[in-house]
Order: sequence, then C-alpha cells, then structure tokens
Amino acid sequence: MYNPQISDEQNQLVGTARKFTAEVIIPAAHEYDETETFPTEIFRQAWDLGLMNVEIPEAYGGLGLGTVEGCLIAEELAYGCPAVATSMMCNHLGALPLMVGGSEEQKHTWLERLIENFEFISYACSEPDAGSDVAGMKSRLVAKDGGGYSLTGQKRWITNAGQASMYTGFATIDPALKHKGITAFVVDRQTKGVSVGRKEKKLGQRASETSDVLFDDVELAPQNILGEPGKGFYIAMEVFDKSRPMIGASCAGIIRRCLDESRNYALERKTFGVPIANHQAIQMILADMAIAYEATRALYLKAAWEVDNDVKRTITSSLAKCFGADAAVKAATDAVQVFGGYGYTREYPVEKLYRDAKLMQIYEGTSQVQRMVIAKNLLRS
Ligand SMILES: Cc1cc2nc3c(=O)[nH]c(=O)nc-3n(C[C@H](O)[C@H](O)[C@H](O)COP(=O)(O)OP(=O)(O)OC[C@H]3O[C@@H](n4cnc5c(N)ncnc54)[C@H](O)[C@@H]3O)c2cc1C
Repeated sequence: MYNPQISDEQNQLVGTARKFTAEVIIPAAHEYDETETFPTEIFRQAWDLGLMNVEIPEAYGGLGLGTVEGCLIAEELAYGCPAVATSMMCNHLGALPLMVGGSEEQKHTWLERLIENFEFISYACSEPDAGSDVAGMKSRLVAKDGGGYSLTGQKRWITNAGQASMYTGFATIDPALKHKGITAFVVDRQTKGVSVGRKEKKLGQRASETSDVLFDDVELAPQNILGEPGKGFYIAMEVFDKSRPMIGASCAGIIRRCLDESRNYALERKTFGVPIANHQAIQMILADMAIAYEATRALYLKAAWEVDNDVKRTITSSLAKCFGADAAVKAATDAVQVFGGYGYTREYPVEKLYRDAKLMQIYEGTSQVQRMVIAKNLLRS
C-alpha cells in the first residue's frame, strides 16, 4: 500500500542535502552560471559526502538507497541550482542501463568504478535527428567476425559528456528493424574511436555541460553489450520510467525556491505604500506556487515509491515529470513577475530559475512526449 510518510532516516538525508545546498551550492551557483563553468569542486564534495550515486546497490559497493531517497536529494539540489542537480543526477541516469540490463559481471565492472573513484557516466541516447523519436536513431552496431561489434554514430545533447569517463548508450543493429534493432551498450571514454564534440551554449543550466559524443568504428566486445541485442529499446524505456520521477523532484525544488524567493521579496518590496504581499494579485501567485509545489511533490513521491516497489506503471513517472516541468516553468515565470524589473536582471536568482526551468520540459522526453505516454496508457485496453 502506498505510504507517502518520510522516515527519520530519509529526513536526515534531506537535512544533509539541504545543508550542502545552503552552504556549498547556493553561494556558488550564480558564478558558475555566469562563467558557464562545470563545478567539479561541488561534485567532488558531494561525492565525498555520499550524495552521488546513492542508488547503486550495496552488492556493488553503493548505499543501495531507493528512488524515493534519490528524489528527495534531487529536490534539495535543484532548490540550490537546477544545473548542479542535472549534472549530479546524470550519473544515476547513466548508471540505469547497467542496473536495468547489465549482467552481474558488467555491474561489478562499471558500477563499482563510480563508487571507488570520482567519475562521471553519461547516458547517450539522443541524436541530431532522433530525440523524441528514439526508435529513429541512426547509430549503427555492425557485427564483427569472431564476435563483438563496430559502433559508429553521433549522439547529441549528452549531459556531462565532456566530463564523463564512460558512457551507456544505444545503437541499432539494423535500422529496418526500427525499435526492435536497438541495442544497449557501455563503453569507456578511452576506447579508440570515441570522442566528444563542442560544448553547447545554452539558455539555462549553464553550469551543466552538454556535448555531442562521437563514435567512429569503435570496437565493442560482447561484454560491452547490455542485455540481448535488439532489446535495448525496452531498456531505454525502463530507464525513463525509473529516471523521470527524479526530474519531477528537481521541478519540486525549483518551484519551492521560486516560492521562497517570491515570498521574501513580496514581504520586503513596497508599492503604493504597502508591501506587495498585501496586494491580492501577488497573494494569488504565491498560493498557486504553493499548490504547484505540493502537487509536484506528491506526484514524484508516488512515482518514486512505485519504482522502489516494482509497480510497473509508466504513467505515474510521466505524470510527475510532465506536471512538474510545466508547473516549474510557470512558477519561474511568475517569480520573475513578482520581482518586476528586478526579476529581469541577473542581480536576483529568479532570472536564472526562469532560464533553468525551461529545460525540464525538454530533456528525458518533452512535455508533449509525456502527454503521448500518458494518453497511450490511458487508452490501453
Ligand atoms: C540541456 C540538454 C541536456 C540533455 N541531456 C541528454 C542526455 O544526457 N542524454 C540524452 O540522450 N539526451 C539528452 N538530451 C536530449 C533530450 O532528451 C532531447 O532534446 C529531447 O528528447 C527532445 O528531442 P529533440 O531535441 O530531438 O526534439 P524533437 O524530437 O525534434 O521535438 C521537437 C518538438 O516537437 C515535439 N514533438 C516531437 N514529436 C512529437 C509528436 N509525435 N507529437 C507531438 N509533438 C512532438 C516535441 O515535443 C518538441 O516540442 C538533452 C537535451 C538538452 C537540451
């Protein structure tokens, strides 16, 4: 039975993440955004503190925490800086194909690296012409005599690609097979033929790096293939079911920050001789933010609980991601409005929240794609 109660242990974890956010992330976030710098030092401290890779099972040296715990941490990090949350949680996304489709040996080899060393792993699914249409990917795996594959292709928009030392990804063994040709793999960055393209210049979440990953006749051994050849699409979909609650959680963090910043400003800023918090129009905005926060939090916690309890309901993850993303964009837009002209300047954090929030409606499936998933599940007989 679903129980949204947060335990004492979970509350302690939230306390650690909240302290880290307040002391390490918030004071540095503006500068990293302005200079578009990857905050390696912040991630290093988070890794030391045990806030990264929390869902890696104990069998591979990890803490073995659940998606609920991962999401609670994501909410706190995104409150401080959505870009930091994105890049930190990207390790979870990158590790998921291994956790979903990897053999015991593969899990030991690759997941243990993330626990033993401060390393990044990226998730390489999207391509220049295949974002929403995952099955339309063109990266090819050509079988080699004597076993293994040659991998050639281009992956686009890959978070942390320039920082990662390993990639999980997807390519097709035969484009004519559409989704039934897609195959999951894992590869070390140092492998001959792997390279990283230029860093994208983005609207927001600028401290998080996004680049192409290029594969040019990369030799993959059978041990680099995750699951059965041709079954990668199902791995990709299961990964999204498990990762999307975390996007919902980051959205909750963004909305809560918008509410806190807006509330504080509304109590301080005076117009017509009174704090703007006295104007009912502003009060309605704050109330809507509070509604959006509670609803997003309730949805992501339910979706995360379902993941942890092996309840196979793709729809809840999409509900959490879609509702949270749309609500975060609205909250950030409204936060700028509460701040008036000051909100439009880089002097106050709401301008950054406004730019950062937009990404939530795009990555890991756009808001349109989430609605497609939701509708498909509703109409399934
Ligand atoms: C900063 C950033 C980080 C990212 N990180 C990663 C990463 O780490 N790994 C990774 O693999 N990918 C990553 N992505 C890629 C991201 O998942 C894709 O950009 C996203 O899925 C959308 O794909 P697209 O950009 O090709 O847009 P398109 O698929 O071309 O979509 C364009 C528009 O058309 C709409 N649309 C498309 N098809 C339909 C349809 N059937 N019905 C209705 N509307 C439709 C979309 O909703 C969108 O509005 C990242 C993207 C960004 C911007």
